[in-house]
Amino acid sequence: VGHYLDRIAEERHLNAFLEVFGDEAEAQAKTVQEKIMHGKAGKLAGMVIGIKDIICYKDHRITVGSRILENYTSIYSSTVVERILAEDAIIIGRLNCDEFAMGGSNENSYYGHVKNYADNTKVPGGSSGGSAVAVQAGLCLASLGTDTGGSVRQPAAFCGVVGLKPTYGRVSRYGVVAYASSLDQVGPITRSVEDAALILEVIAGADEYDSTASSKPVPAYSRGLASGGKKKLAYLVEALSSGGIDPEVKTMTEQAIQQLKEEGHTVEPVSFPYLEYVVPTYYILTMAEASSNLARYDGVHYGYRSPNATDLESTYKKSRSEGFGNEVKRRIMLGTFILSAGYYDAYYAKAQKVRKLIRQKTEEILNTYDFILMPTTPTPAFGIGEKIDDPVTMYLADIFTVQASLAGIPAISVPAGNNSSGLPLGLQFMGRRFGEGELLAFSEHFL
Ligand code: GLN
Repeated sequence: VGHYLDRIAEERHLNAFLEVFGDEAEAQAKTVQEKIMHGKAGKLAGMVIGIKDIICYKDHRITVGSRILENYTSIYSSTVVERILAEDAIIIGRLNCDEFAMGGSNENSYYGHVKNYADNTKVPGGSSGGSAVAVQAGLCLASLGTDTGGSVRQPAAFCGVVGLKPTYGRVSRYGVVAYASSLDQVGPITRSVEDAALILEVIAGADEYDSTASSKPVPAYSRGLASGGKKKLAYLVEALSSGGIDPEVKTMTEQAIQQLKEEGHTVEPVSFPYLEYVVPTYYILTMAEASSNLARYDGVHYGYRSPNATDLESTYKKSRSEGFGNEVKRRIMLGTFILSAGYYDAYYAKAQKVRKLIRQKTEEILNTYDFILMPTTPTPAFGIGEKIDDPVTMYLADIFTVQASLAGIPAISVPAGNNSSGLPLGLQFMGRRFGEGELLAFSEHFL
């Protein structure tokens, strides 16, 4: 803990942490040390973990990167926090993120942007940018992020670390601030696949407080890592021929395909004709869900209340206008439009149908193949400020991560070397629903 506290102080300029629980983490460490001496330590004993500031931890502040929750304190702990603490993890602090997890660059945080440790002029990715940088820069051993459309995998790729998005329903969302409830999942960001497996094993499983958390038994992921065998992988022709893909990202992917073939795995091209629809479908559905989920921030129930309000209506209007940032407002307005009586069928209902097609086609590929392989992102980390004024370009950069989110399947991003400017690249593997065990074992081998 002392080591990490020193590192956090040295790298404060990265802006990864919103709050450091220094004394508390030191006290936790002492307790865990005693447990270790008495042979009673849990599975995560000694693991120093940072949590994305979207995950409730009782009696600790939580802002979700927003002004609207600036002075809000969690009144209960999320299931994931309770589970890691029960296994003796040490929680060292709250990590910066895009406001309400909306973003792909961590530039939408009210508390300032986060810098990529590999190159301070580049974004770390988002929305779990603080979570990725904290692991990349060695400010904690591992972190928890959330992934709705790539927010664990994309920053992991930009920062050269491992990021896992579990199957929808594998991990309880209780106590995790909602962005788009039909896609949100908590996932670990780590240096090794082994740590990701260990954390998943602890946080996954049924939860009486979240009816979407599956009651499927949780395998001992960390013990299954040795299982090998030759696999069948598919890559999507449309992905590698898409215009927006950076040449070095493409070469990295082709080299990975070559390497896998040389190792005796089968790697074949398949067609996925819906690739151009994944981003529009994802954004229509998430904006609709977000506009509904964020209705609760009304200046009365939670957090910020405008001092300029004079009556009920101006309390709502002013608190929300002053409390939310631009990207969040954009999505609330678009989501409200999407769900409005006259346009519901044209946008929301249609997007639900397309989501079903995307899921079915993805599952069909995974009936024949063990995994789908793709780059995690079409480009390496881009410059701070480069895309922030162009939301459509920012959204389109999510093209490779949202398919797994819409299909509800697990996906992992693993480090795949650096480009010629020294920026990390990430390779993504997607697996079958609840196939985290196979996915982790395979990516461990690949690394
Ligand atoms: N960039 C995507 C978005 O802005 C993904 C965010 C996420 O997974 N939370 O919605």
